[in-house]
Amino acid sequence: MIPAEFAGHKVRPLHTFLAYSLFVSLFAQFPDTLRGKMVLLCLPRTLSKPGTINSTTLIAGDDMELSATQQARPWDRPFWKPVHGKEGVFTYLVLIHVLAVIGLILFPLPSLKVVGLTVLFVAFGGLGTTVCYHRLLAHKTLKTNRFIEQFLIFWAIFNGSGHPASWVAYHRLHHSVTDTPEDISSPKQGGFWWAHLRWLYQTQPADKQRWAPELTGGIYKIWGWAETPVILLSIFIGLILGFGWMGFFWMGALRLVYSLHMQCFVNSLTHLDPAPEGDSSKNVWWLGPFQLTAWGENWHRNHHSHAGSARLGLRWYQTDIGWYFIWMLEAVGLAHSVKRPRAS
Ligand SMILES: [Zn+2]
Ligand SMILES: [Zn+2]
Repeated sequence: MIPAEFAGHKVRPLHTFLAYSLFVSLFAQFPDTLRGKMVLLCLPRTLSKPGTINSTTLIAGDDMELSATQQARPWDRPFWKPVHGKEGVFTYLVLIHVLAVIGLILFPLPSLKVVGLTVLFVAFGGLGTTVCYHRLLAHKTLKTNRFIEQFLIFWAIFNGSGHPASWVAYHRLHHSVTDTPEDISSPKQGGFWWAHLRWLYQTQPADKQRWAPELTGGIYKIWGWAETPVILLSIFIGLILGFGWMGFFWMGALRLVYSLHMQCFVNSLTHLDPAPEGDSSKNVWWLGPFQLTAWGENWHRNHHSHAGSARLGLRWYQTDIGWYFIWMLEAVGLAHSVKRPRAS
């Protein structure tokens, strides 16, 4: 199954076929798998107070009632035990980490070309997740050209963020019950590692029909079918583009692991403010330069305070690449109805 052009890159057909078969069989088992991955999220608790329900609905969709999707204290489960139906997510997480470690051992110093393309994919993926999934689909803080939206959805899935309905459902749930026991990813409730990774495979999926009904039909259905092929493409892109095993590890698993953790930091690190009660979100300025894949999401306190704003970096010195991208789209007529932060 190996294209002839890979022959010069020491790619062994049998190995590649076995790896490919393993991934195919794995992903075939869990259509919900990567949908449950990275979720950043927000909607400040203040917005769910009486009198602000209209803004909440406006920002995050049609139905913002609380949902009891959580079992009691799911973080008390052993960390190695996924909930029923998320065994695939757990296996996927283990696999990309194992492949990433192998990749680092075999190819500690990748070529400039491989690094360049890896960073480019990370960057596109980051824009897909923060601009499209978070600011456009989850919070509706801008409207954009249909083609741009679909283009960014592709990159978000390629980045490992899963189906838009799943991401948005998790996100809106998080916003509506931030840092309460019902919050799926609060470090205040379950600790750092719970918020960082464990909730991905130890909580039941958020109800998409309830939290993101507008993203479950129409053109979004196509992404349900395309999700597995896109993530397979993402894992094997280095081989497909002819960069051999070095490309396979760096442009595949290593990139996915990097993207995963940089986005998981938004759930863990940026929710560690020692607020005695309620919302513990905080801005983490030093995360910005590392967070190629979450472009501006490190200003998480800003986001919880101004969830209706497309701009997350509120001060001139708060770098927010996602916002610059939106501003550019608006300037050339590809985005409109862009919501700015409230004056307060
Ligand atoms: Zn949010
Ligand atoms: Zn948050």
